[in-house]
Amino acid sequence: MSETWNNRTKLVHGGTRRSQYNEVSEAIFLTQGFVYESAEQAEARFIETGPDEFIYGRYGNPTVAMFEDRIALLEGAEDAFATASGMAAVSGALTSILKAGDHVVSAKALFGSCLYILENVLTRYGVEVTFVDGTDLDQWRAAMRPDTKSVFFESMSNPTLEVIDITAVAAIAHEVGATVVVDNVFSTPVFSKAIAQGADVVVYSATKHIDGQGRVLGGVVLGTKDYIRGTLEPYMKHTGGSLSPFNAWTLLKGLETIDLRVKAQAKTALQIAEALQGHAGLERTIYPGLKDHAQHALVQDQLDGCGGTVLSLDLKGGKEAAFRFLNALTIPVISNNLGDAKSIATHPATTTHQRLPEDQKVELGITSGLVRFSVGLEDSDDLIADLSQALATAQG
Ligand SMILES: *Cc1c(COP(=O)(O)O)cnc(C)c1O
Repeated sequence: MSETWNNRTKLVHGGTRRSQYNEVSEAIFLTQGFVYESAEQAEARFIETGPDEFIYGRYGNPTVAMFEDRIALLEGAEDAFATASGMAAVSGALTSILKAGDHVVSAKALFGSCLYILENVLTRYGVEVTFVDGTDLDQWRAAMRPDTKSVFFESMSNPTLEVIDITAVAAIAHEVGATVVVDNVFSTPVFSKAIAQGADVVVYSATKHIDGQGRVLGGVVLGTKDYIRGTLEPYMKHTGGSLSPFNAWTLLKGLETIDLRVKAQAKTALQIAEALQGHAGLERTIYPGLKDHAQHALVQDQLDGCGGTVLSLDLKGGKEAAFRFLNALTIPVISNNLGDAKSIATHPATTTHQRLPEDQKVELGITSGLVRFSVGLEDSDDLIADLSQALATAQG
């Protein structure tokens, strides 16, 4: 029955498990393990673990299971496995399906840690990785090989907000039988339906919009029951990247309000982008919801016309102007999370993407004047006024 609910109902009631006390708010089962009533019961549970039976925290936990079931319901996935962080989700999703000799095709515009996994970790274990411009379908086609086991991309890239066509890339990848793994953080589970569009595996850093208030680290991998329980779970439960029950509870509470939050944030993001577009102090205002965005048509299909909760501002005057701008902001904080209730401004070239060589930064459009702006829940007029005065200071 819950599959037929609309999102807001799924987000409040999906996956709920009540204890013998019938609590209203979900319980936190802050326990490492579970007691068996007999030796026979312990033996039986290790042979086959039922959906409401648990063995050890690293394998599963009732609070964690509530989070997994709720987000799977929202995403339209058969199942989900919750992880200690977004990076545990990305690395687990990839390493659980790859082995030495396999080939991977990946978009090159990636979050720094994702790039590290593909460039520095997988390659050490004999996996070959080809990087392509994710927005160029011809490059995806040309890179596919019979031994391509997986493709990986961020559906909306960080920090330049390119939108990648999930349906088209999945069709190309499936011709050679490759598993499509999509990092869907910037699209959010509210605006994206990546599984319906052809992704085989979807990963989120739950640290971002799912928590939404900057409290805990977490992640989740979604896919078919076969993949999640047959391939990923054995890998995750034995390598140790499971989510803590306390964090799972925080994220469950985050899911209750995510639809309201990200829609409000996206609405403000569009207002800011429209207000600042063409500003004399800016080279470019990048926001997928703007009509001049390179993938504007795709945004209509893939994200229901919503450009997300993050925009990027490329300031004239390089790093000096960007730093003057950041230091002049009075409401947003300078930090590197996103999806938070608090607006957050980041200078990718010197922080999240500092590690990249200069030519790679240029290739990815990470200029010295680029500021990533994660729109929070503050009043939009206050944010526009604050950004405008900071832009004036940056030019001064
Ligand atoms: C933050 C982020 C991650 C990593 O998530 P953590 O929870 O910080 O481990 C992965 N991919 C993208 C696109 C991100 O923004």
